[in-house]
Amino acid sequence: MSEATLVMLKNDLKALKLSTMAKFVEEHLRQAMEKSIDYGEFLLELTSLELRIRAENRLKRRIREAKFPLLKPLETFDIEAASGLDVRLFRELARCGYIKEHRNIIFLGKSGTGKTHMATAFGIEACKNDFITRFITCYGLANELIEAREDRELQRLLKRYSRYDLLILDELGYVPFSKEGAELIFQVLAERHERGSLIITTNLGFADWTKIFGDPIMTAALLDRLTHRAHIINCTWESYRLKETLKKRSLSQKEEVAEKPSG
Ligand code: ADP
Ligand code: MG
Repeated sequence: MSEATLVMLKNDLKALKLSTMAKFVEEHLRQAMEKSIDYGEFLLELTSLELRIRAENRLKRRIREAKFPLLKPLETFDIEAASGLDVRLFRELARCGYIKEHRNIIFLGKSGTGKTHMATAFGIEACKNDFITRFITCYGLANELIEAREDRELQRLLKRYSRYDLLILDELGYVPFSKEGAELIFQVLAERHERGSLIITTNLGFADWTKIFGDPIMTAALLDRLTHRAHIINCTWESYRLKETLKKRSLSQKEEVAEKPSG
């Protein structure tokens, strides 16, 4: 192939937005000639490469846009440590069917039981399945909404939140909202009802949600929508952090005993 043809080919590939093919076509052409790879195989190698790199970039973009505070994937969650977790349901949820069905997940439980970890892991799985995902704390969302209203950007922000396939709201109940914050969060959640999925993590039992949202009628309406067809996961097991600390402490005590000379 002449240099001029190669340049034209690369330009065409770029114009077709096949940037990976454009980048690698020269190298693959050379290899195909050296190893007498047939035309079909040569082309397939390049198209597969283009698709693979695109999928990788898409995943990176989804994860970046989700703004996870820490990247804790599913593989790092020790299911055995969460005794009482419905493992079959956990594995099924990790496959993201609930997002297609616009259903919610609520993780309820004490601090340290892995609620944020599980929510993040499910969020990463959602990104892998190309669902537009966003992770934010309830406190962060309330602030973002209040600021947007002050800047007359509220409608735009509400629209953005309605576009996420999966919205993860972490730490409901840690900090009470102002009346304005509660109303705005209510609006976001109400708008997503049966149109997108939510994951909520909370240390509060449903009976205590009024303390956070203030108005009992609004809270009842919200709970009614959120829990409708939702998967509710009660994290009744011990705090993972606490268990780890106790384990370390008992190990170091054993070491101390072992180090002490006997007699
Ligand atoms: P919560 O949100 O319920 O307060 P976190 O998800 O923040 O709890 O968990 C506390 C710490 O313990 C985190 O570092 C988390 O990665 C870890 N952790 C909790 N449960 C598990 C588990 N089952 N396997 C591995 N790490 C866990
Ligand atoms: Mg947490």
